[in-house]
Amino acid sequence: SRKFFIGGNWKMNGDVAFVKSHVNFINDTEIPANTEVVIAPPYIYLDSVRKHLKKEVGVSAQNSYTKSSGAYTGEISPEQLKDLGIEWVILGHSERREIFKESDEFVGEKVAHALATGVKVIACVGEKLEEREANLTEEVVFRQLRAIADRIKDWTHVVIAYEPVWAIGTGKVATPTQAQQVHIALRDWLRNNVSAHVADHTRIIYGGSVNGKNCRDLSSEGDIDGFLVGGACLKPEFSDIVRTKA
Ligand code: 13P
Repeated sequence: SRKFFIGGNWKMNGDVAFVKSHVNFINDTEIPANTEVVIAPPYIYLDSVRKHLKKEVGVSAQNSYTKSSGAYTGEISPEQLKDLGIEWVILGHSERREIFKESDEFVGEKVAHALATGVKVIACVGEKLEEREANLTEEVVFRQLRAIADRIKDWTHVVIAYEPVWAIGTGKVATPTQAQQVHIALRDWLRNNVSAHVADHTRIIYGGSVNGKNCRDLSSEGDIDGFLVGGACLKPEFSDIVRTKA
């Protein structure tokens, strides 16, 4: 009952020419009925992508702020995303947490504000290599999830992305077993701290060096409900990933 979910996070990549060819490529890709696809270009291309992309594919921003409007130079509000018909936002990506020093609490506030505005959220959690090696994986992802759970009530429009930092952009994909273990732990956490219904219905997707070759194996694990794809979402193999469950 959890629809398979494929997100494509462009990060700070692409230009006008790429937008045009990529939108055509996605529009030509047959989306399996059992799969939801959402692509996340940089802010400045969102409007153009939403206007030209087929409606069955969702569009996501890669960040949004905690306020609706005001003197916050350089920021974008979920209200503004909604105004353009952008349905989703990625929040708490490890690159935002690490490079831009976003705290767990700040991420939690962003998630709460986006949901309150009616923008759906891909909420990212994940441990760094040194944390995994110190056996702190669960402690870290539970802490990140707690900061979100404390601030929201309705999980209907939340997808959790488990993205171990050591697997992002490194080619070192988590093994299906490694990912599944953390996905089970996250689902158990939801069961024990939110509700059985939320645990059963919330999609938990995996991100970190997913490609056209490893997606099938990862998807065979019962608690991996899809992927958040970085590098490979910019390449032709993204259509193979979109069609993992075809
Ligand atoms: P890669 O697929 O390039 O490892 O990136 C994953 C990611 O961070 C998606 O948000």
